[in-house]
Amino acid sequence: MAQRRVIVVGGGTAGLELATRLGQSDGCHVTLVDRRTTHLWKPLMHQLAAGTLDTYEDEIGFIAQARRGNFHYHIGYMHGLNANAKQIRLASLYDHEGREILPERDLSYDELVLAVGSIANDFGTPGVADHSHFVDNPEGAESFRRDLTALLARTWAKPEVGPVRLAIVGGGPTGVELAAEVMHAVEEVRGYGVDMPKPAIRITLMEASERILAGVSEDIAEHSHKKLEEIGVTVRTGCRITGAQMEGLELDSGELIDCDLSVWAAGVKAPAWVGELGLPTDKADRVVVDEYLRVTGDVADIHAMGDCSACQEDGNGAPVPARAAAANQQASYLASRLVKQPSERERTPFTYRDKGTLVSIAGYAAYGEIVGLKRNMVQGMTAQLAYASLRRAHQRAILGSGRTLAIMVSDALRRKAKMKMKL
Ligand SMILES: Cc1cc2nc3c(=O)[nH]c(=O)nc-3n(C[C@H](O)[C@H](O)[C@H](O)COP(=O)(O)OP(=O)(O)OC[C@H]3O[C@@H](n4cnc5c(N)ncnc54)[C@H](O)[C@@H]3O)c2cc1C
Repeated sequence: MAQRRVIVVGGGTAGLELATRLGQSDGCHVTLVDRRTTHLWKPLMHQLAAGTLDTYEDEIGFIAQARRGNFHYHIGYMHGLNANAKQIRLASLYDHEGREILPERDLSYDELVLAVGSIANDFGTPGVADHSHFVDNPEGAESFRRDLTALLARTWAKPEVGPVRLAIVGGGPTGVELAAEVMHAVEEVRGYGVDMPKPAIRITLMEASERILAGVSEDIAEHSHKKLEEIGVTVRTGCRITGAQMEGLELDSGELIDCDLSVWAAGVKAPAWVGELGLPTDKADRVVVDEYLRVTGDVADIHAMGDCSACQEDGNGAPVPARAAAANQQASYLASRLVKQPSERERTPFTYRDKGTLVSIAGYAAYGEIVGLKRNMVQGMTAQLAYASLRRAHQRAILGSGRTLAIMVSDALRRKAKMKMKL
């Protein structure tokens, strides 16, 4: 029987896991399309931004992974879809000097899976796109790291300019974890004997709701809030940003928060081009899928998963959250579904299993709720280990248990042998 051509667009948390699992099946010819040549697990992005992660050590190259996982890899930026002809359109590819390397082209599929992730949602707030950083992708995180390093170097060389003023918008996990990681990174640099003024940085974390971490229990939010303040982060809740300028951020009260650097980490949405594919989408441009992760509306053989999809947990329940754990579960579900011929697919719907929430306050603390444990809130080493296990589960799904174990050993040796900071 001829193999079905399955195209997975997006080699992130969900897409790379799916391509790797499906690649083992004889019935499918799997092609993974990604705009980049390497995969970096997105929940590490705040560490890349703070300079505490060495990307060269943590990235996985798609070419090597395709060979290991028995799938095909095609570099390309999807920007169009012809659902009737069953083709996706990839944009021209240019080199760093703007020369065209590959023209615009179409790829044909029998089944398509969209897994292109999300971007931060600036809700069209004026000035944000021009004056704020975004740490939702490797290029954005790296650009923030370079600017932060330059500003810290200035404070070190010229203490009279005062501490670096960093404003972070969004008190969700990304904003909270970034604030803590940057604070920790600055302490780490001081530990190398760099004689920086104290404080070398002032971080203000701003959140529109009345409390940070709206998606987790009040207990965890309160502990995290207190810990952030303890390490020197100013947390402001109930303040809405109405604009960004070179000099700082404007609040709805008219106040201007002066800053040298700002990061927008509030809200997520699918990339705008997803909303222009002609598929049913919600107001955050996410593709609406049914309980089998099939795209709804008048299209066939298209599934969507991960952050770019809008899925109601059980048909009419709460929406599946934009989290790595959900992306991972959806990839497993689709792997067992797509491996079968369409006529043989069972009618078991996808159900999201919430296994808990974990928040890491860098090297200072971690808090979490693990569903099934008697004591609801965990902290300290238990929470740190549970947080780390999320990443290891992703590595296991992609690289297998043996390689993951080898990476854990090499990570431990690396921590002993190398400096933590990338300066
Ligand atoms: C700083 C940060 C910290 C986080 N921490 C946590 C955490 O602690 N726990 C947790 O559960 N979740 C966390 N998340 C959320 C989590 O990372 C996402 O929910 C998860 O990665 C979603 O997986 P995905 O596969 O849908 O998208 P992604 O992992 O973002 O992958 C999308 C892929 O699509 C590719 N792509 C995008 N556009 C195109 C295109 N046009 N053509 C081709 N390829 C394209 C991208 O290159 C990428 O490889 C965090 C997110 C951030 C930003």
